Amino acid sequence: MPVAAPDATRPSVLHLDLDAFFAAVEQRDKPSLRGKPVVVGGTGWRGVVATASYEARAYGIGSAMPTMEARRRCHNAAFLAGRFAAYRTVSQQVMALAHELSPLVEQVSLDEAYVDLTPTHPGLDVAEVSRVAEEFRARVRAVTGLTVSVGAGPSKLVAKIASDLRKPDALVVVPPAEQHALLGPLPVRRLPGVGAVTGERLTRVGIRTVADLAAADEAELVRMVGRAHGTGLLAYARAVDPRPVVPERDAKSVSAEETFAVDLTDRRELAERARRMVDRVAVRLAAGGVSGRTVTVKLRRYDFTTLNRSRTLAQPTAAPREIAAAALALLEGIDVADGVRLLGVGVSGLTEYTQQDLLAELDEPAAGDADPAPGAEPEQTAGQQAEVGGVLPLGSAVPYGPPAPPRSAWSPGQDVAHDEHGPGWVQGSGVGRVTVRFEGPHTPAGRIHTFADDDPALHPAPPPRW
Ligand SMILES: [Mg+2]
Repeated sequence: MPVAAPDATRPSVLHLDLDAFFAAVEQRDKPSLRGKPVVVGGTGWRGVVATASYEARAYGIGSAMPTMEARRRCHNAAFLAGRFAAYRTVSQQVMALAHELSPLVEQVSLDEAYVDLTPTHPGLDVAEVSRVAEEFRARVRAVTGLTVSVGAGPSKLVAKIASDLRKPDALVVVPPAEQHALLGPLPVRRLPGVGAVTGERLTRVGIRTVADLAAADEAELVRMVGRAHGTGLLAYARAVDPRPVVPERDAKSVSAEETFAVDLTDRRELAERARRMVDRVAVRLAAGGVSGRTVTVKLRRYDFTTLNRSRTLAQPTAAPREIAAAALALLEGIDVADGVRLLGVGVSGLTEYTQQDLLAELDEPAAGDADPAPGAEPEQTAGQQAEVGGVLPLGSAVPYGPPAPPRSAWSPGQDVAHDEHGPGWVQGSGVGRVTVRFEGPHTPAGRIHTFADDDPALHPAPPPRW
């Protein structure tokens, strides 16, 4: 399939994004949780939120927030460890439906994809794309029981912003003639590549909206944020985005990086920043259902020279602890005495995750303080090919932080079956007991029973069928 820039004269690019995906699957399969705050993610001390239901978002809970903080904000929420097999099944169903629209489907994560309709709908107009997208949304609902928001526009940039505009359960079509009116009033932070640091720099010179940025002087912008970044941002602000929809996902890495307001020389500070980036990378690996073998640390010095150091692990991993061990070992080997301007951590060599208990890995302790400071959000660059420097075999991971606390054999949210009571899910466990709620996607809200956690009549079970 040829890979070409989308037809910028028509709204032929779709961005599909399932609404509150992991949490929505949980509410679908667990009737007692419908309409209630649900948080999916790491449930331990160092756990991180992967997805919050809309009811939980009303308490200010969002992705990548420490689970402890989420508990503080809403202790009544259901905190679930996640059921990866169930999420993958739904993802495959939705991607299969997307492939019925066009062969040009670029899957971005388990619950997000771009579709370029040009091959199957050449010359399409607003009415046609609306019909195609609404049919798709209806089919997703029928096949999976879930809602998907869709944005349509002349580019990936516009389609992505459109899909987010009226979430959940919405379709927004942006014809080329209206894209400037849509983008103009948005805050610059809404553009890909504008993180906290760049956003602040732009605000300082009075650039707050996309329209401000579009009118900015290119030379000045390049002076502020660098040539590659500056010209790219300016193009986005002017709604110029020729990125093609690439069917097989070429991008094989996930990374996070941060530019510091003041050059850093303190190793402990750099290590702490690296750990936080690792946590964010791990959340995104989990969201994409992938793990990777190569860990890369990128570091830009005060004089703008840039180093990349990589290490290839024996096995692919998505575990923050293993990624952090490799990243910190790489960082140890770099001279930072003269000051570090930018630090990044990436994982590449990605493969589909196979371990079922994916989200539990977000629980692994990442050592250091347990109080990640707010702010200092990295600018995340999804899907860029990481430069790989020397590849070193890593025989054994560097010991790092305290060992993981022992976990119960039963994880909250897990599917189970009881010989007498039938299918249900684990609501909680501890002190030798496990509480199970017996219900399924097509039953009314069910009753709970408590058992000894080694009750021979209780078994792990596959996800229920929708
Ligand atoms: Mg989503």
